[in-house]
Amino acid sequence: MFVDVHAHLNDPKFAGEEERVADLCLQAGVGLVVNAGYDLSSSEKAKELAERFPFMYFTAGVHPDHAGELDGESEKRLIGLLSHPKCVGVGEIGFDFHWNVYPRDVQERAFLRQAEIACREELPFVVHSRDASAATTEFLKKHADLTAHGFVLHCYSESAECAKVYRKLGAYFTFGGVITFTNAKKEEVVSSIPPAYVTTETDCPYLAPHPLRGTKNTPANIPIIVEKLASIYGMTVKETEKIAEENARKIFKRL
Ligand SMILES: [Zn+2]
Repeated sequence: MFVDVHAHLNDPKFAGEEERVADLCLQAGVGLVVNAGYDLSSSEKAKELAERFPFMYFTAGVHPDHAGELDGESEKRLIGLLSHPKCVGVGEIGFDFHWNVYPRDVQERAFLRQAEIACREELPFVVHSRDASAATTEFLKKHADLTAHGFVLHCYSESAECAKVYRKLGAYFTFGGVITFTNAKKEEVVSSIPPAYVTTETDCPYLAPHPLRGTKNTPANIPIIVEKLASIYGMTVKETEKIAEENARKIFKRL
């Protein structure tokens, strides 16, 4: 089956369309979707979707753009979500120096608190790192003890050199629509990472793959991403589909 390990069907842009999109996924052969939380209410919405659709799972967490919202009360709510049997990890968490909604120290505090919680709950965490490769690698090196249950760099967009550093720290990588955009450099980055550490995502409703770029993305577009990965690695679509599913289950043990 095809897998989408980072979707946002919990985004208000999908409100009222969940049933239709779920049908589209199944028709496209996408048998596993992980909806990622970006704040507390979106994490709770992702949990509701997981309870409603058997092939959906979720991660719960506070994105760096919402870092200032993480306080004692929301931490309690977050920890409560993590004990749900269909909650497969903490995320998305990390650094975003593109939007810089909160200063670096506030982002770092939220990242650290949630990485600590993930470690204590024996769950992997999903890293969002935008324009922040130095800060993210530094953070992961400094807090290597918190990565015992694994972590994944979602929508990996940094360099091949950085990927080597992350890999040494135990990272897995997920790729989405961006790798289908016409840009040879992306192919170089992907091919520098062995397929044993790679899986697939859409980050929908954003980042629809070529030739659908600019439209509202859904997990049903995963086959386009798998096809592109297969061509970069010189593997068949079937082989790539299989390894992406296996890797997803290696990272997220509750799947
Ligand atoms: Zn996301």
